[in-house]
Amino acid sequence: MGAINEIAARLLETGEAKVVIGYGEGSFGSVRPAFARNQEEAEKLIYDKRCTQNLAMYVYKKEISPLRKLAIVANVSTLRGIIRLASENQIKNGDIITLYINELGEVIECKALSEIEICLAEITPEIKPEDKELIDKLDAMTPQERWNFWISEMESCIKCYACRQACPLCYCTQCAVEVNQPQWIPVAANTSGNLEWHITRAMHLSGRCVECGQCGEACPVNIPIHLLPIKLAEEIKNIYGTVSGMKIQESNTLSTFKPDDKENFIG
Ligand code: SF4
Ligand code: SF4
Repeated sequence: MGAINEIAARLLETGEAKVVIGYGEGSFGSVRPAFARNQEEAEKLIYDKRCTQNLAMYVYKKEISPLRKLAIVANVSTLRGIIRLASENQIKNGDIITLYINELGEVIECKALSEIEICLAEITPEIKPEDKELIDKLDAMTPQERWNFWISEMESCIKCYACRQACPLCYCTQCAVEVNQPQWIPVAANTSGNLEWHITRAMHLSGRCVECGQCGEACPVNIPIHLLPIKLAEEIKNIYGTVSGMKIQESNTLSTFKPDDKENFIG
């Protein structure tokens, strides 16, 4: 049994956690989220380079939330998701034990949110080289070319909302797309409705996105939809010098202001 299994088994046995959220073997060589409630299930948890999913999206689900205190196996994206959720008051200090697996494969058990911040202080967040390449390509386009690119991509959107479901920060109990009085966003998957949906989502995620790329990973028609919030995160870092999900107190960039903020974008 590896370290992650031993720690998970201990936390469940001592009652420190009612459930350990981690990864398990899926079908056809894939991994899937796994929820260990006892020693036998803890033994089946795995962790390897395939475990890229941001598991922070489970901590507030109605089926999981009552099981707090819970433990969660965490990669860097998951750590950032947890810190971001804490900054939005979705997680309280002491609700979650985080089992962070660092680059050396060591498991670091964090029982307080401040311990997660200490782990993150050692990390420089990076986006995937292939995402950086496509963002650079889009930056080099004219506004019309960029518009054409996104219109063409969004035409294939089937409005399945898998991107929303995969995101640790799309936790509203009623999404704007499901409100029908008034109907803010058309239900049908058509060009203008798709555009409205994705612009709305990108704006809701701006300054909050933790750049995990899970929304794009989840898309069944391979729209690189994660590039919109990731590009906005890059812009926010350049303008305000802040990065979401690294420190609880420095996360709310677009909902805070200073009296001496520049206002040269007005009029
Ligand atoms: S990359 Fe996508 S899934 Fe990940 S936090 Fe940002 S918007 Fe959510
Ligand atoms: S996952 Fe893809 S197809 Fe589904 S709503 Fe999101 S962008 Fe559209």
